[in-house]
Amino acid sequence: MNRLRQANPRLAGLVPYDPKYIPAEVMLSANENPSDVPEKLQKELARALAEVPFNRYPDPLGNRLRDAIAQANGLERDWVLLGNGGDELLFDLALAWGGSGRKFLDMPPTFSVYAANARLTDTTVVSVARMPDFSIDEEAVLARVAQGDIDYVIVTSPNNPTGKLADEGFVLRLLEATDALVLVDEAYFEFSHRTVRPYLESHENLLILRTFSKAFSLAGVRLGYFLGHPHVIREFLKVRQPYSVDALSQAVGQVVFDNRALFQPGIDLIVEQRGRLLEGLRAIPGVEVFDSDANYLLFRMENASEAWEYLLEHGVLVRDFSKSPLLEDCLRVTVGSPGQNRRFLDVLRDFCLGKH
Ligand code: PMP
Repeated sequence: MNRLRQANPRLAGLVPYDPKYIPAEVMLSANENPSDVPEKLQKELARALAEVPFNRYPDPLGNRLRDAIAQANGLERDWVLLGNGGDELLFDLALAWGGSGRKFLDMPPTFSVYAANARLTDTTVVSVARMPDFSIDEEAVLARVAQGDIDYVIVTSPNNPTGKLADEGFVLRLLEATDALVLVDEAYFEFSHRTVRPYLESHENLLILRTFSKAFSLAGVRLGYFLGHPHVIREFLKVRQPYSVDALSQAVGQVVFDNRALFQPGIDLIVEQRGRLLEGLRAIPGVEVFDSDANYLLFRMENASEAWEYLLEHGVLVRDFSKSPLLEDCLRVTVGSPGQNRRFLDVLRDFCLGKH
């Protein structure tokens, strides 16, 4: 038979997620760490990988790494869940707390994967847009959850792609105002050193997401984790793919987590370079840059999509949000190495001064 029954009609209006990850000499589009894992760890990583039996299934929950993360956070193992990148856990969140007849409160502009996951799982998206300076419209969010019908909320802190932390007092008020599950997405936590971890034991509706992809240089490995109450984590065990975190990722994650102190100098350099990049962007006429607590900066300018192309023609890839709702004329640049940042600033300055 040369015919095909159509896919679920819910997919009709959806477009596949496209990170626009085009090869370029200077990759500043995906909020990756500009440095690979430290040289010192390479041998240890090779040794750990050599010990992985390829013919055996991995430990479904990665309990060894789970224990290490739990211990570092002053928790027991059952408060931690590993995932195939934070992305998998975000999808599991929509499966477990969303679904038909359920509601997710989104605060756009933010990470677009949240709303995409909600749509895929037939979850209604309730959007409370951010203010013009991209801060959360706190009173509007609190008023909306007070209606009592929201099932889960995601607070991204720092927010991607806009860069700033959510106010801690606001998160606390939100946790107290609702029984909805509140995920605080701390994917960029290591660049801000601010966390809502202290509120975990006292608020069973709090869930925290972290990732190895940014500060710990493992975007290629796919490893993230939740911190949450054991009965919240237990619900996720029902929806997750049993072997989603493969044995290789567990082995690499273990070595990196045990040696996480080695990443601190790289993180400090990124934070220092973020300040320089901010100043450099501020000094370019026609560019409005937004302050950031993460490893990227959002900026707005006229002709943003032409600037994006000009940058790419000159070997620098940044992220183009200029056609995205609420982010018109905006581009996002990841903080790279000092040389990459200088190169980005030089090319953008040339574009803005009309040398193109
Ligand atoms: N949350 C936010 C806010 C992100 O920006 C990202 C990565 N772009 C993720 C979660 C997921 O990261 P990963 O799947 O690489 O762990």
